[in-house]
Amino acid sequence: MAVNVEIKSFPLFINGEWSPSKGGQLFDVMNPATGDVIAKVTSGTAEDVDLAVKAASEAFDKDDWRDMPPKKRSKMLYAIAQKILENAEELVSLEALSSGGTVRRLGSNDIIQMVDLFQTLGKFVLDYTYSETLPSPPFPGPAHNFIWREPIGVCAAITPWNMPMLIATWKIAPALAMGNTIVIKPASYTPLTTLRLAEIISEVVPKGVINVVTGSGKDVGEPLATHPQVDKIAFTGSTDVGRHIMSLASSTVKNTTLELGGKSPSIILEDADLSLALPGSLFGVFLHSGQLCESGTRLFVPDQLYDQVIDGLKELSEKLVLGNPIDPATDMGPVVSATQKESILSYIEKGKQEGARLICGGYEVNVKGCEKGHFIAPTIFADVTNEMTIAREEIFGPVLSVIRYSDVDDAIRMANDTIYGLAAGVWTRDVNKAYQVVRKLRAGVVWINDWHMLRNDAPFGGYKQSGIGREMGKHCLDAYTQVKHVHTSMVPEVERRSWYSLLFSNQSK
Ligand code: NAD
Repeated sequence: MAVNVEIKSFPLFINGEWSPSKGGQLFDVMNPATGDVIAKVTSGTAEDVDLAVKAASEAFDKDDWRDMPPKKRSKMLYAIAQKILENAEELVSLEALSSGGTVRRLGSNDIIQMVDLFQTLGKFVLDYTYSETLPSPPFPGPAHNFIWREPIGVCAAITPWNMPMLIATWKIAPALAMGNTIVIKPASYTPLTTLRLAEIISEVVPKGVINVVTGSGKDVGEPLATHPQVDKIAFTGSTDVGRHIMSLASSTVKNTTLELGGKSPSIILEDADLSLALPGSLFGVFLHSGQLCESGTRLFVPDQLYDQVIDGLKELSEKLVLGNPIDPATDMGPVVSATQKESILSYIEKGKQEGARLICGGYEVNVKGCEKGHFIAPTIFADVTNEMTIAREEIFGPVLSVIRYSDVDDAIRMANDTIYGLAAGVWTRDVNKAYQVVRKLRAGVVWINDWHMLRNDAPFGGYKQSGIGREMGKHCLDAYTQVKHVHTSMVPEVERRSWYSLLFSNQSK
């Protein structure tokens, strides 16, 4: 894939056009593989947020947008999918250059998922239940009652750096599908694809329906989370920031959905097919250098298989090729930044100090041609206990903790002994055994003999402190609507309204 890097400056994207900030400066966006500056992006301010929210609010007030017939909206969603497809190569390049994701993953997964999500929701909106009629009860008299589903209004999306364009789509697609408008604040490491997506989508939707304000969490995220005209906040990021967003959103009682962190357990049962479970477990943890929220970072292995599993994992891990993400031969790219790299390395140190046994990796890698990049070797710790820091905290890097168990009930207890509940998995040849384990695992998605298998027609989200609400699937459409109950009385004569006697004592006289 040819990649031309021209250092370009990006203003904000407000009301269908590029808009300079009211006072904000530019900041650098870097390529984590090379350390080069690849773009300059605007640090937005509270005043910029206000303008974007006003644009979104005015766009929402237009009946043509809010009450668009489902057939027309479906066509619009398909048109967006087509635009994304037409610009796929550019989006993949921009994303690889700024996030460190490999072009192999982005080109054959993320971009396809994005297109498919708009198409899937394009189908769903055609048979969505926008209104429901309730049966008329005999008391307090004949009445017609129905429930309407309506858009919520102006949605604010705050997104992380790990899969920026895919996660932005998880919020943009359902918001637009249900007739809302949106203001997005992408993470500062990776704002480019969100800006470009907004530009592409605005070729299809009216002005103000989609807006992007780049900048820090403090200067842009907080004003969005507290803005009185923002009706909903959809956040994806760490659990710590999620808690903060929830408290900020409470000041104006916003509808809030949160997609947060994870420390997902993967359990190998005694009868597992190791020729599948070993590469599968590594696929579960090292894809995108371990920077996926639902990565299987804790692997539970029975005593009988322990040594064999450790040896097999080490052998496979050492074959992974670290390199520039724009090279299709690269298995694992860099981690997103120097800060993230330091944080991962300090967790690795902590693992050693707390007594875990380093099996492979554990160090920074110098990749030829990418000497200023932030690469970490795939790292595996054996003899980890579920109490160690590396088994409790989200590292968000290529680090696997292997935990030994003797009794499967104990493995399930340890798997659930975490504040998180995003994903989980089980490896076995016996599907009945698998279901017994799956029932007991407290997580929003559970994979049997696989990992990372998210679908646009299935809900994704967390149990416990991994979040509130669901993205994708029909559930995500519900999350971008609110319900209104409408009652029409069929009793026109006041004297027949016996229930008015609740107030008027002389009604019957
Ligand atoms: P983060 O929480 O640091 O930041 C996420 C977003 O919040 C960024 O846009 C950031 O600028 C913004 N932000 C930070 N402080 C803020 C504040 N005070 N007010 C408002 N906004 C603020 O997360 P990250 O480091 O960008 O991403 C990694 C995290 O995201 C991991 O914990 C990962 O598990 C999680 N994640 C979850 C999912 C999911 O679907 N559950 C998906 C991807 C990533």
